[in-house]
Amino acid sequence: MIDTKPQQSLYPWLVKPYLSLADDLANDRLHHALLFHSSASLGKSQLLGRLVKLIHCASVSESKACGECQHCQLHAANTHADYYHIRCLDNKNQISIEQVRTLSQKLMGTGLVNKRRVVIIESVELMTESAQNALLKILEEPPLHVYFLLSTSNIAQVSATILSRCFKMLIEQPQRDKLLNWLERKSGKSITRDQLTLLGDSPLKAIDALMNDRLAQISPLLDQYNALYLAWQNRELDSAYSAAIMLAQEIEKLANEKSNPLIFGESLMMLIRFNHWVAKGQLVSNLDNSLLALPLQTSVNKIDALSLTEFDQKMNQLRHQLADNTGLNGLMQLRSIMIEITERIIED
Ligand SMILES: [Zn+2]
Repeated sequence: MIDTKPQQSLYPWLVKPYLSLADDLANDRLHHALLFHSSASLGKSQLLGRLVKLIHCASVSESKACGECQHCQLHAANTHADYYHIRCLDNKNQISIEQVRTLSQKLMGTGLVNKRRVVIIESVELMTESAQNALLKILEEPPLHVYFLLSTSNIAQVSATILSRCFKMLIEQPQRDKLLNWLERKSGKSITRDQLTLLGDSPLKAIDALMNDRLAQISPLLDQYNALYLAWQNRELDSAYSAAIMLAQEIEKLANEKSNPLIFGESLMMLIRFNHWVAKGQLVSNLDNSLLALPLQTSVNKIDALSLTEFDQKMNQLRHQLADNTGLNGLMQLRSIMIEITERIIED
């Protein structure tokens, strides 16, 4: 569904890319296949929706669609015939080749009400291999006056051949302090850096959490995380152990809610390391009835001695850095180390 609320202003971090594309369009040099990518949820669909209207509008003024011409009205009613939208269907987890074939047939003809036609494909990385190949065929010999607006939050999963046919546009992550300010202005509530990190640095997830009072749900995770980290650093076995158990429970809750996999991975890594430190297997046996037991056990088995040694070295390095530099955010540093190790486990 494209954004049909004309009054809603663009997210501030989308304004610059929007204006630059509007300028390209006005000067007739807009690339026919654009791929928008970002690492977090940054509201790319809002940008795509605006571009569709801009491409179709008969009376663009100051880089904005007029909202009144025939095309703007058709878009407002969501019935513009020269706009095709492909996304993962609700009950599916992939974009199928059939969806691309249907598109291909539609593209055989010409525009019905507008010479220019626009295709949006959201989450390109979810296309099956055959769907990506079919799309590639279309992009290799693009029909005249058709604009393809593709988006992905995981560009590494998009085939290189598709990438080579598109102009890639990175939607940059807004600067963290600016983002925190914006979130607080928008919601009238406060949010910390750590809470934002736990929400994958995604402004949309953060605004959703703020508006729906869900920050309280992630705060316990953060508290346990900090508690485990401090106890571990001070070698306070008992408090580290209870923090680890509570952290595991918090992770389990988040896992049930299909939360950010990164948080899951990071926290899991923390538990795994702790588990090795106490005694291999001990913590796992205490979590037997938990849905965490299997992934935890699997990960413990997957970490080889080398990774653990490296991990220990990095932790030592971090301890020295923390001792030398009191301004350093230990938790943030720890996270980046854990992300690195977690990624390696996932790669295996
Ligand atoms: Zn218009």
